[in-house]
Formats: sequence, C-alpha cells, structure tokens
Amino acid sequence: MLKSINPTTGKTVKTYEAHTEKGIEKIINSVDKSWHHWRQSSYSERATAFQNLSTLLRSKKEELALLMAIEMGKVINEGISEIEKCAWVCEYYAQNAESFLENEIIQNEASRSFVSFQPLGTVLAVMPWNFPFWQVFRFLAPTLMAGNTAVLKHASNVPGCAVAIEELVREAGFPENVFRTLLIGSNLVENVIKHNAIKAVSLTGSTSAGKSVAAIAGSVLKKCVLELGGSDPYLILEDADLEAAAKICAKSRLLNAGQSCIAAKRFIVVDEVYPEFLEHFTHEMNTAHFGDPCESETTMGPMARINLRDELHQQVVESVKKGAEIILGGEIPNRKGAFYPPTILESVTSGMPAYDEELFGPVAAVIRVKDEKEAIKTANETTFGLGAAVFTNDLKRGEIIAEFKLEAGCCFVNDFVKSDPRLPFGGIGESGYGRELSTHGIKEFMNVKTVVVK
Ligand code: NAP
Repeated sequence: MLKSINPTTGKTVKTYEAHTEKGIEKIINSVDKSWHHWRQSSYSERATAFQNLSTLLRSKKEELALLMAIEMGKVINEGISEIEKCAWVCEYYAQNAESFLENEIIQNEASRSFVSFQPLGTVLAVMPWNFPFWQVFRFLAPTLMAGNTAVLKHASNVPGCAVAIEELVREAGFPENVFRTLLIGSNLVENVIKHNAIKAVSLTGSTSAGKSVAAIAGSVLKKCVLELGGSDPYLILEDADLEAAAKICAKSRLLNAGQSCIAAKRFIVVDEVYPEFLEHFTHEMNTAHFGDPCESETTMGPMARINLRDELHQQVVESVKKGAEIILGGEIPNRKGAFYPPTILESVTSGMPAYDEELFGPVAAVIRVKDEKEAIKTANETTFGLGAAVFTNDLKRGEIIAEFKLEAGCCFVNDFVKSDPRLPFGGIGESGYGRELSTHGIKEFMNVKTVVVK
C-alpha cells in the first residue's frame, strides 16, 4: 500500500494498492513487447505523440500543480512552472531527437563506415519526489523519442503523480504499454533491475540509493545513469554585485523549500565583502513567506515529509553543537505540518554536517574565506560535484573559475544553477555519473553501433 500524505496537514489524502510480483512481471513483459513495435515507429510518429503530450501538460498545468502541492508541498506557482518545463522538454526532443541521432559518417578505407544510434529496449527509471513531474519527463522525453520504452518506479510518497504521468502518456495517444508506472517500494527495485527485459536503469535520488542501484546494475552488467545529491558551493567574490548576488542565492536556496539537488547550499564569501553580503542575504532569506502551498501569498511550502524535516533539523543541531551559529531560523515552528523556516548558519567549518553533508531543505551554510584561492579550495572540499556558481563583475575571471577551477558538472557565473533541455545536466563524484538532457542525454541509453561495409 502506498500513501499520499499531505505535508501541510499531515492527513492521508489517498492510498494506492501496490503492484504484486505477478503484476510487476505482467507490466514489464507488456512494455518489453511493445518495444518491438515502438522501435520501428518513425521519428515523426513519436514526435506527434510528444507534441500531444506537451499540449496536454499545458492544458492541465493548474490541476497537476495542485496534485504536487497536496502530495509533496510544492507552492502552486512553482508547480505550474514545473509542468511548463515538462511541456518544453517534450517539444524539444520532438523537434530535435532525429537530428541528434543521425548517423555519423566516418571516412576510412572501407566503402562505407558509420555510427548508428539504436535503442536498447526497456529502461527502468527510479525517481525522487522533489520535482515529481520534471525528473520523470526529462528522462521520458529523450528515452522514448530514441525508440526505447520505459517503466517508472517513482518515490513512495508521490504515487498520485506516478499514476497521473502514466495517464497523461495514455491520453496523449501513445501506443499501449510504451510507458508504465510500477507502484512498488524500493525493496523491489533489485528484482526489476535484474529482470531480463530491463536493459538499463536511470536513478535520480540520494547518493546512498545511487550506490545501491549501481551495485545491483553492475552485478548484472546493465548500464546506469545516476543523478544524485549535491552540496553546491556559491562563491561571492569581492567585486560581485552583492545585492543581486544575495537575491539569486536566497532564491536558489529556498526554491522548492530548499529541496533541490542543485540548490545553493554552501555560500563561500570572501572576507572583504562578508558583512555586507550577509546583511543582504539575511534580508532576502527573511522575506520568504512560508505556509500553505495552495495559498497565493505563500512563497515557500512545507518540506515533503515530517521525517525529512526532522533529519534536517538534526543536521542544524549537530552543526551548532560543533560551533556553527544560527543567525536566522533554526527552530521547528509550533504548527502542524512539515514546516521548517529559512535558516542561516554562519561560522560553518569542516567536520560539521552543514559543511560535509547535503542540507536538503531551506538551510544556508555561510563560510567566510580570505580570498579567491581559499574560496575555490573550500568549494572543492566536498565529496559531491553537481553544480557550482561564482559571483563577480569580471566575467572573464568568472568564466575561468567556472571552466577550470570548480570541480562540478554544471558551473554558472552570476546566476543560479538550473537545468535546461538544451544543456547537459549531471555531476561528478558522489553526485553521480552520466548526463541527462541535450544531445548528450539522449545518447545514454543507445547502442552506439559501428557499421562497416567493406
Ligand atoms: P531517495 O530516498 O534516494 O529516493 C529516490 C528514489 O530512489 C525513490 O524512488 C526511492 O524509493 C528509491 N530508492 C531509495 N533507496 C533505494 C535503494 N536502496 N534501492 C533502490 N531504490 C531506492 O531520494 P529522495 O529523498 O527521494 O530525493 C532526494 C535526493 O535526491 C537528494 O539527495 C537530492 O539531491 C537527490 N536528487 C538529485 C537530483 C539530480 O539530478 N542530481 C535531482 C533531484 C534529487 P522510495 O521512495 O520507495 O524509497
């Protein structure tokens, strides 16, 4: 049994019968069967289905945003933007998949040699609850446009979103069983990965889930793409526009109640501008209005689950015990629901959870450093490597730091890290491997086939 529990009220909204082992077997076999037809379909047939899906998403954006607000606490406006982004990624791959996967001709001594991109078959997606539509659609659009089929194991706390995605695909007119949702807990993921019809797996989630899935996939030699956690550093240099930087930093930290893999998490500020930046940043963090995600004045909803809120608070308490100072928030509010206030910790140093671990909620760790050199060293002092940003008015300086000095998959100058269908997305180190989106993402689940005609 899977439950939707509203994190604002703590009430169970709906329960869903989980699939039995027999049910899982039947679904995987039917998706595998449909692959043999789907892979023969033309790009234009697939593109028509994705254009329909895109239109459908746009027409239902309010209703789907409400579903997210009720299941995991996302503010309605953010939910609407998320659905619009899903519609965009469907259109993007509908328009570009064919050119991305064109044969590459290689000149050699044979009469003809080329590289052809062929689909692998049915791919399993294991997805998180924090962007319950976007995480799935950024996998689904390239994977299906490339001629693969897919099954989804969504996070256990968003079964309503999981079912809604399957219904949207059906309603958009895709052939039966090219995409199905499995309503299962994580204990059954191993069996699914090991199923003969599953050819690869994509997991977005925590580093511990990634290690577990990678080990299982490795044991049966199946490819995986891992999009895992992060502790993104944002560097504030002495020549930055501090007011603008503080606005961007607070926005990135508080979006989705701080529950984003690419949220800014560590703010590394050079000595010269530390007091001024902190003043602007505290002001910006303090303007958030947290409350019921369905109310129009709310800018930050609750966290997705009480246990996640409590784990975050524990990280704050541990960090304070080790010397961090709370300058904003830091206390569980006396109200129902999984709420946690915007929080700023300063004097954060190595050895504290706020320095070493991912803070998956609205808590900012501020770190004071001497200069650019120390800022870069501190930024890279992490096991993660997903995103990073640097703020400076010298764009060339920023570009050099972003390109050569920061060890992360996505590095931005004077902006917050965000995903975009046109750009590859992914990390290094404990943030995972492989890339999603762009021309790189669509090639992850393909047989890159060499064809030589003598
Ligand atoms: P999670 O607990 O790792 O869960 C993610 C998914 O993996 C869920 O479907 C979960 O199923 C499943 N899962 C958990 N443990 C598993 C295991 N041992 N074997 C197989 N499957 C397992 O993560 P979350 O709390 O949903 O999401 C937050 C984490 O995801 C954060 O660390 C965040 O940074 C990361 N994230 C990364 C990206 C990225 O693009 N890099 C994007 C978003 C989120 P159940 O729900 O049934 O446990």
